[in-house]
Amino acid sequence: MADNRIYNFSAGPSMLPVPVLERCASEMLNYKGSGMSVMEMSHRSKVYDGIITETEAALRRVLSIPDNYKVLFLQGGASTQFAAIPMNLLKTGKADYALTGNFANNAYKEAVKFGDIHVAFSSKDRNFDRVPTQAELDIRPDADYFYICANNTIYGTEYQYDPETPAGVPLVADMSSNILSKPVDVSKYGVIYAGAQKNMGPAGVTVVIVREDLLGSYPLEKYPVMLDWQTMANKGSMYNTPPTYGIYVLGLVLEWVEQMGGVKVMQERAEKRSSMLYDYLDSQDFYKAVAEKASRSHMNVTFRTGDDELDAKFAKESMAAGMSNLKGHRSVGGMRASIYNAMPIEGVEYLIDFMKKFAAENK
Ligand code: PLP
Repeated sequence: MADNRIYNFSAGPSMLPVPVLERCASEMLNYKGSGMSVMEMSHRSKVYDGIITETEAALRRVLSIPDNYKVLFLQGGASTQFAAIPMNLLKTGKADYALTGNFANNAYKEAVKFGDIHVAFSSKDRNFDRVPTQAELDIRPDADYFYICANNTIYGTEYQYDPETPAGVPLVADMSSNILSKPVDVSKYGVIYAGAQKNMGPAGVTVVIVREDLLGSYPLEKYPVMLDWQTMANKGSMYNTPPTYGIYVLGLVLEWVEQMGGVKVMQERAEKRSSMLYDYLDSQDFYKAVAEKASRSHMNVTFRTGDDELDAKFAKESMAAGMSNLKGHRSVGGMRASIYNAMPIEGVEYLIDFMKKFAAENK
Protein backbone atom coordinates (compact mmCIF):
# COMPACT_ATOMS: atom_id res chain seq x y z
CA MET A 1 0.00 0.00 0.00
CA ALA A 2 1.11 3.54 -0.72
CA ASP A 3 2.51 5.82 1.98
CA ASN A 4 2.36 3.33 4.82
CA ARG A 5 -1.39 2.95 4.56
CA ILE A 6 -2.69 -0.31 5.95
CA TYR A 7 -5.38 -2.61 4.59
CA ASN A 8 -8.40 -1.41 6.51
CA PHE A 9 -11.12 -4.06 6.71
CA SER A 10 -13.41 -1.85 8.81
CA ALA A 11 -17.17 -2.25 8.46
CA GLY A 12 -17.51 1.52 8.44
CA PRO A 13 -16.29 4.16 8.29
CA SER A 14 -14.08 2.33 5.89
CA MET A 15 -11.40 2.72 3.23
CA LEU A 16 -11.83 5.34 0.53
CA PRO A 17 -10.11 5.17 -2.86
CA VAL A 18 -6.62 6.71 -2.64
CA PRO A 19 -7.22 9.02 -5.66
CA VAL A 20 -10.24 10.46 -3.81
CA LEU A 21 -8.18 11.17 -0.70
CA GLU A 22 -5.46 12.74 -2.85
CA ARG A 23 -8.02 15.02 -4.48
CA CYS A 24 -9.32 16.05 -1.06
CA ALA A 25 -5.76 16.89 -0.04
CA SER A 26 -4.93 18.81 -3.20
CA GLU A 27 -8.15 20.83 -3.05
CA MET A 28 -8.15 21.31 0.71
CA LEU A 29 -6.86 24.88 0.94
CA ASN A 30 -8.14 26.32 -2.30
CA TYR A 31 -10.98 24.61 -4.10
CA LYS A 32 -10.73 25.40 -7.82
CA GLY A 33 -9.52 28.97 -7.33
CA SER A 34 -12.26 29.86 -4.82
CA GLY A 35 -9.57 30.71 -2.27
CA MET A 36 -11.15 28.47 0.35
CA SER A 37 -11.77 24.87 1.31
CA VAL A 38 -15.13 23.30 0.47
CA MET A 39 -15.51 23.00 4.26
CA GLU A 40 -15.46 26.77 4.60
CA MET A 41 -17.84 27.52 1.78
CA SER A 42 -21.41 28.79 2.06
CA HIS A 43 -23.84 26.11 0.98
CA ARG A 44 -25.73 28.85 -0.84
CA SER A 45 -22.72 29.97 -2.89
CA LYS A 46 -22.48 29.50 -6.63
CA VAL A 47 -19.40 27.31 -6.29
CA TYR A 48 -21.11 24.99 -3.83
CA ASP A 49 -24.22 24.88 -5.96
CA GLY A 50 -22.00 23.48 -8.71
CA ILE A 51 -20.74 20.76 -6.34
CA ILE A 52 -24.12 19.55 -5.06
CA THR A 53 -25.71 19.75 -8.52
CA GLU A 54 -22.94 17.68 -10.09
CA THR A 55 -22.95 15.18 -7.20
CA GLU A 56 -26.65 14.55 -7.67
CA ALA A 57 -26.24 14.30 -11.45
CA ALA A 58 -23.37 11.82 -11.02
CA LEU A 59 -25.39 9.66 -8.61
CA ARG A 60 -28.27 9.67 -11.08
CA ARG A 61 -25.91 8.59 -13.88
CA VAL A 62 -24.10 5.93 -11.86
CA LEU A 63 -27.26 4.29 -10.49
CA SER A 64 -29.46 5.09 -13.53
CA ILE A 65 -32.00 6.75 -11.24
CA PRO A 66 -35.23 7.43 -13.13
CA ASP A 67 -36.49 11.02 -13.36
CA ASN A 68 -39.49 10.34 -11.14
CA TYR A 69 -37.24 9.83 -8.12
CA LYS A 70 -35.94 12.57 -5.82
CA VAL A 71 -32.42 12.40 -4.43
CA LEU A 72 -31.95 13.85 -0.93
CA PHE A 73 -28.70 14.50 0.92
CA LEU A 74 -29.50 14.41 4.62
CA GLN A 75 -27.82 14.31 8.01
CA GLY A 76 -28.33 12.05 11.01
CA GLY A 77 -26.99 8.80 9.55
CA ALA A 78 -29.01 5.86 8.34
CA SER A 79 -30.40 5.43 11.84
CA THR A 80 -32.35 8.69 11.65
CA GLN A 81 -34.10 7.30 8.59
CA PHE A 82 -35.32 4.34 10.68
CA ALA A 83 -37.87 6.80 12.11
CA ALA A 84 -38.21 8.99 9.01
CA ILE A 85 -39.37 6.01 6.92
CA PRO A 86 -42.58 5.25 8.85
CA MET A 87 -43.17 8.98 9.35
CA ASN A 88 -43.06 9.65 5.63
CA LEU A 89 -44.59 6.47 4.28
CA LEU A 90 -47.32 5.27 6.63
CA LYS A 91 -50.72 6.11 5.17
CA THR A 92 -53.00 3.46 6.66
CA GLY A 93 -50.56 2.73 9.49
CA LYS A 94 -49.47 -0.73 8.35
CA ALA A 95 -45.99 -1.77 7.26
CA ASP A 96 -44.09 -5.04 7.00
CA TYR A 97 -40.46 -5.70 7.88
CA ALA A 98 -37.99 -8.52 7.19
CA LEU A 99 -35.78 -8.90 10.24
CA THR A 100 -32.37 -10.02 9.04
CA GLY A 101 -30.04 -8.40 11.56
CA ASN A 102 -29.34 -5.65 14.02
CA PHE A 103 -30.03 -2.71 11.70
CA ALA A 104 -33.26 -4.18 10.30
CA ASN A 105 -34.26 -4.78 13.89
CA ASN A 106 -33.45 -1.20 14.92
CA ALA A 107 -35.51 0.07 11.98
CA TYR A 108 -38.38 -2.18 13.02
CA LYS A 109 -38.23 -0.93 16.62
CA GLU A 110 -38.54 2.67 15.43
CA ALA A 111 -41.43 1.81 13.08
CA VAL A 112 -43.38 0.06 15.85
CA LYS A 113 -43.67 3.48 17.55
CA PHE A 114 -45.68 4.72 14.58
CA GLY A 115 -48.04 1.96 13.51
CA ASP A 116 -49.08 -1.65 13.07
CA ILE A 117 -45.84 -3.30 12.02
CA HIS A 118 -45.80 -6.93 10.93
CA VAL A 119 -42.73 -9.18 10.82
CA ALA A 120 -42.70 -10.60 7.29
CA PHE A 121 -39.66 -12.77 8.01
CA SER A 122 -37.10 -13.22 10.77
CA SER A 123 -33.86 -15.19 10.93
CA LYS A 124 -33.29 -14.19 14.57
CA ASP A 125 -33.55 -17.80 15.77
CA ARG A 126 -30.42 -18.59 13.70
CA ASN A 127 -28.54 -15.47 14.78
CA PHE A 128 -29.33 -13.90 11.41
CA ASP A 129 -27.16 -16.17 9.31
CA ARG A 130 -29.34 -15.75 6.24
CA VAL A 131 -31.82 -13.60 4.34
CA PRO A 132 -35.21 -14.93 3.21
CA THR A 133 -36.07 -16.48 -0.12
CA GLN A 134 -38.92 -14.83 -1.98
CA ALA A 135 -41.23 -17.72 -1.00
CA GLU A 136 -40.57 -17.14 2.70
CA LEU A 137 -41.77 -13.54 2.66
CA ASP A 138 -45.15 -13.00 4.25
CA ILE A 139 -46.06 -9.49 3.07
CA ARG A 140 -49.54 -8.11 3.70
CA PRO A 141 -51.18 -6.92 0.47
CA ASP A 142 -52.47 -3.80 2.24
CA ALA A 143 -49.13 -2.79 3.82
CA ASP A 144 -48.03 0.79 3.10
CA TYR A 145 -44.54 -0.53 2.39
CA PHE A 146 -42.26 -3.53 2.81
CA TYR A 147 -38.84 -2.95 4.39
CA ILE A 148 -35.56 -4.80 3.94
CA CYS A 149 -31.93 -4.28 4.89
CA ALA A 150 -30.23 -5.18 1.59
CA ASN A 151 -26.86 -6.05 3.12
CA ASN A 152 -26.48 -7.01 6.75
CA THR A 153 -23.12 -5.55 7.66
CA ILE A 154 -22.71 -7.35 10.98
CA TYR A 155 -23.74 -10.84 9.90
CA GLY A 156 -22.33 -10.83 6.36
CA THR A 157 -25.55 -11.61 4.52
CA GLU A 158 -26.97 -9.94 1.43
CA TYR A 159 -30.08 -10.28 -0.72
CA GLN A 160 -29.07 -11.67 -4.10
CA TYR A 161 -32.39 -10.60 -5.63
CA ASP A 162 -34.87 -7.72 -5.47
CA PRO A 163 -37.82 -9.00 -3.41
CA GLU A 164 -41.21 -8.86 -5.13
CA THR A 165 -44.03 -7.23 -3.21
CA PRO A 166 -47.82 -7.44 -3.62
CA ALA A 167 -49.14 -4.92 -6.17
CA GLY A 168 -48.95 -1.37 -4.87
CA VAL A 169 -46.70 -2.14 -1.88
CA PRO A 170 -43.47 -0.13 -2.29
CA LEU A 171 -40.19 -1.83 -1.45
CA VAL A 172 -37.97 0.17 0.93
CA ALA A 173 -34.31 -0.80 1.25
CA ASP A 174 -31.46 0.15 3.52
CA MET A 175 -28.45 -0.12 1.18
CA SER A 176 -25.97 1.49 3.57
CA SER A 177 -23.40 -1.25 3.14
CA ASN A 178 -23.82 -2.30 -0.49
CA ILE A 179 -24.88 0.78 -2.45
CA LEU A 180 -22.61 1.45 -5.47
CA SER A 181 -21.31 -2.13 -5.31
CA LYS A 182 -23.51 -3.34 -8.17
CA PRO A 183 -26.13 -2.10 -10.60
CA VAL A 184 -29.58 -1.78 -9.05
CA ASP A 185 -32.93 -1.48 -10.80
CA VAL A 186 -34.11 1.57 -8.88
CA SER A 187 -37.57 1.35 -10.45
CA LYS A 188 -38.23 -1.79 -8.36
CA TYR A 189 -37.89 0.25 -5.17
CA GLY A 190 -40.05 2.93 -3.61
CA VAL A 191 -37.18 4.13 -1.43
CA ILE A 192 -33.47 3.33 -1.32
CA TYR A 193 -31.38 4.94 1.36
CA ALA A 194 -27.85 4.67 2.67
CA GLY A 195 -25.43 6.19 5.13
CA ALA A 196 -22.30 7.18 3.21
CA GLN A 197 -19.53 5.79 5.36
CA LYS A 198 -18.91 2.52 3.53
CA ASN A 199 -19.01 2.90 -0.26
CA MET A 200 -19.88 6.58 -0.63
CA GLY A 201 -17.62 8.76 1.49
CA PRO A 202 -17.27 10.06 5.02
CA ALA A 203 -19.88 9.61 7.75
CA GLY A 204 -22.25 12.55 7.92
CA VAL A 205 -24.21 12.38 4.70
CA THR A 206 -27.13 10.04 4.16
CA VAL A 207 -28.61 9.60 0.71
CA VAL A 208 -32.34 9.00 0.27
CA ILE A 209 -33.69 8.11 -3.17
CA VAL A 210 -37.47 8.29 -3.08
CA ARG A 211 -40.15 7.84 -5.74
CA GLU A 212 -41.95 11.15 -6.10
CA ASP A 213 -45.47 9.84 -5.68
CA LEU A 214 -44.55 8.56 -2.20
CA LEU A 215 -43.79 12.05 -0.95
CA GLY A 216 -46.48 13.71 1.07
CA SER A 217 -48.15 10.38 1.95
CA TYR A 218 -48.53 11.25 5.58
CA PRO A 219 -49.66 14.36 7.44
CA LEU A 220 -46.31 15.37 8.87
CA GLU A 221 -47.27 18.61 10.61
CA LYS A 222 -46.71 17.25 14.09
CA TYR A 223 -43.32 15.71 13.30
CA PRO A 224 -39.91 17.35 13.10
CA VAL A 225 -39.47 19.13 9.80
CA MET A 226 -35.93 17.77 9.54
CA LEU A 227 -37.40 14.31 8.98
CA ASP A 228 -39.86 15.44 6.34
CA TRP A 229 -38.66 14.26 2.93
CA GLN A 230 -41.18 16.44 1.08
CA THR A 231 -39.76 19.61 2.63
CA MET A 232 -36.21 18.44 1.98
CA ALA A 233 -37.10 17.64 -1.65
CA ASN A 234 -38.79 21.01 -2.12
CA LYS A 235 -35.71 22.76 -0.76
CA GLY A 236 -33.14 20.75 -2.74
CA SER A 237 -31.78 19.24 0.53
CA MET A 238 -31.15 22.81 1.75
CA TYR A 239 -33.88 23.43 4.27
CA ASN A 240 -30.90 23.83 6.60
CA THR A 241 -27.15 23.47 6.10
CA PRO A 242 -26.54 20.15 4.37
CA PRO A 243 -23.47 18.02 5.15
CA THR A 244 -21.46 20.03 2.66
CA TYR A 245 -18.06 18.37 2.84
CA GLY A 246 -19.53 14.84 2.80
CA ILE A 247 -21.52 15.67 -0.33
CA TYR A 248 -18.35 16.98 -1.98
CA VAL A 249 -16.43 13.77 -1.14
CA LEU A 250 -19.36 11.69 -2.39
CA GLY A 251 -19.03 13.60 -5.67
CA LEU A 252 -15.34 12.66 -5.85
CA VAL A 253 -16.15 9.00 -5.07
CA LEU A 254 -18.74 8.97 -7.85
CA GLU A 255 -16.20 10.45 -10.24
CA TRP A 256 -13.83 7.62 -9.28
CA VAL A 257 -16.57 5.00 -9.78
CA GLU A 258 -17.31 6.40 -13.24
CA GLN A 259 -13.61 6.48 -14.16
CA MET A 260 -13.27 2.86 -13.07
CA GLY A 261 -16.11 1.87 -15.40
CA GLY A 262 -19.20 2.28 -13.24
CA VAL A 263 -21.14 -0.01 -10.94
CA LYS A 264 -20.84 -2.97 -13.32
CA VAL A 265 -17.08 -2.89 -12.77
CA MET A 266 -17.61 -2.38 -9.02
CA GLN A 267 -19.73 -5.55 -9.09
CA GLU A 268 -17.04 -7.55 -10.95
CA ARG A 269 -14.43 -6.39 -8.46
CA ALA A 270 -16.72 -7.18 -5.50
CA GLU A 271 -17.47 -10.66 -6.82
CA LYS A 272 -13.78 -11.31 -7.40
CA ARG A 273 -12.77 -10.17 -3.90
CA SER A 274 -15.54 -12.03 -2.11
CA SER A 275 -15.23 -15.26 -4.11
CA MET A 276 -11.49 -15.36 -3.43
CA LEU A 277 -12.28 -15.33 0.28
CA TYR A 278 -15.26 -17.71 0.16
CA ASP A 279 -13.40 -20.15 -2.13
CA TYR A 280 -10.56 -20.25 0.35
CA LEU A 281 -12.96 -20.66 3.31
CA ASP A 282 -14.72 -23.54 1.54
CA SER A 283 -11.44 -25.27 0.67
CA GLN A 284 -10.24 -25.90 4.23
CA ASP A 285 -11.58 -26.70 7.69
CA PHE A 286 -9.64 -24.45 10.08
CA TYR A 287 -12.03 -21.50 9.54
CA LYS A 288 -15.77 -21.70 9.03
CA ALA A 289 -17.83 -19.20 7.07
CA VAL A 290 -20.70 -17.88 9.21
CA ALA A 291 -23.38 -16.92 6.69
CA GLU A 292 -25.42 -19.49 4.83
CA LYS A 293 -24.07 -19.97 1.29
CA ALA A 294 -27.04 -18.58 -0.65
CA SER A 295 -27.05 -15.42 1.51
CA ARG A 296 -23.34 -14.60 1.49
CA SER A 297 -22.48 -10.91 1.26
CA HIS A 298 -20.06 -9.54 -1.30
CA MET A 299 -19.16 -6.72 1.09
CA ASN A 300 -18.77 -8.27 4.55
CA VAL A 301 -17.29 -11.75 4.89
CA THR A 302 -17.81 -13.33 8.32
CA PHE A 303 -15.88 -16.37 9.51
CA ARG A 304 -14.60 -17.94 12.70
CA THR A 305 -12.24 -20.63 13.94
CA GLY A 306 -14.71 -21.90 16.53
CA ASP A 307 -12.29 -21.06 19.35
CA ASP A 308 -12.71 -17.60 20.93
CA GLU A 309 -9.08 -17.42 22.03
CA LEU A 310 -7.81 -18.21 18.56
CA ASP A 311 -10.19 -15.63 17.10
CA ALA A 312 -8.78 -13.01 19.48
CA LYS A 313 -5.23 -14.04 18.54
CA PHE A 314 -6.14 -13.70 14.85
CA ALA A 315 -7.43 -10.17 15.38
CA LYS A 316 -4.26 -9.19 17.26
CA GLU A 317 -1.78 -10.76 14.87
CA SER A 318 -3.55 -9.53 11.73
CA MET A 319 -3.35 -6.01 13.11
CA ALA A 320 0.40 -6.44 13.67
CA ALA A 321 0.66 -7.68 10.07
CA GLY A 322 -0.83 -4.42 8.72
CA MET A 323 -4.55 -5.20 8.53
CA SER A 324 -7.03 -3.42 10.75
CA ASN A 325 -10.54 -4.13 12.00
CA LEU A 326 -10.78 -7.84 11.25
CA LYS A 327 -12.38 -8.59 14.62
CA GLY A 328 -16.01 -9.62 14.16
CA HIS A 329 -18.89 -7.68 15.67
CA ARG A 330 -19.58 -8.74 19.26
CA SER A 331 -22.98 -10.20 18.36
CA VAL A 332 -21.42 -12.68 15.93
CA GLY A 333 -17.88 -13.08 17.26
CA GLY A 334 -15.10 -14.49 15.10
CA MET A 335 -13.80 -12.35 12.27
CA ARG A 336 -15.27 -10.06 9.65
CA ALA A 337 -13.50 -8.78 6.57
CA SER A 338 -15.32 -5.79 5.13
CA ILE A 339 -14.25 -5.49 1.52
CA TYR A 340 -15.99 -2.47 0.09
CA ASN A 341 -15.37 -0.82 -3.29
CA ALA A 342 -12.06 0.79 -2.30
CA MET A 343 -10.41 -2.46 -1.14
CA PRO A 344 -7.83 -3.52 -3.72
CA ILE A 345 -7.60 -7.18 -4.78
CA GLU A 346 -4.08 -7.19 -3.29
CA GLY A 347 -5.62 -6.49 0.13
CA VAL A 348 -7.67 -9.68 -0.12
CA GLU A 349 -4.68 -11.67 -1.42
CA TYR A 350 -2.65 -10.39 1.51
CA LEU A 351 -5.41 -11.39 3.94
CA ILE A 352 -5.71 -14.91 2.49
CA ASP A 353 -1.94 -15.41 2.70
CA PHE A 354 -2.11 -14.35 6.33
CA MET A 355 -5.06 -16.68 6.99
CA LYS A 356 -3.15 -19.62 5.53
CA LYS A 357 -0.08 -18.87 7.60
CA PHE A 358 -2.14 -18.40 10.76
CA ALA A 359 -3.98 -21.68 10.17
CA ALA A 360 -0.71 -23.57 9.63
CA GLU A 361 0.79 -22.14 12.83
CA ASN A 362 -2.28 -22.75 15.02
CA LYS A 363 -3.68 -26.09 13.85
N1 PLP B 1 -27.74 0.19 8.21
C1 PLP B 1 -26.66 -0.56 7.93
C2 PLP B 1 -26.79 -1.68 6.95
C3 PLP B 1 -25.44 -0.29 8.55
O1 PLP B 1 -24.37 -1.05 8.29
C4 PLP B 1 -25.37 0.78 9.48
C5 PLP B 1 -24.10 1.10 10.16
O2 PLP B 1 -23.11 0.44 10.08
C6 PLP B 1 -26.52 1.51 9.75
C7 PLP B 1 -27.68 1.20 9.09
C8 PLP B 1 -26.50 2.64 10.73
O3 PLP B 1 -25.88 3.70 10.11
P1 PLP B 1 -25.58 5.08 10.86
O4 PLP B 1 -24.48 4.77 11.81
O5 PLP B 1 -25.19 5.98 9.73
O6 PLP B 1 -26.81 5.50 11.54
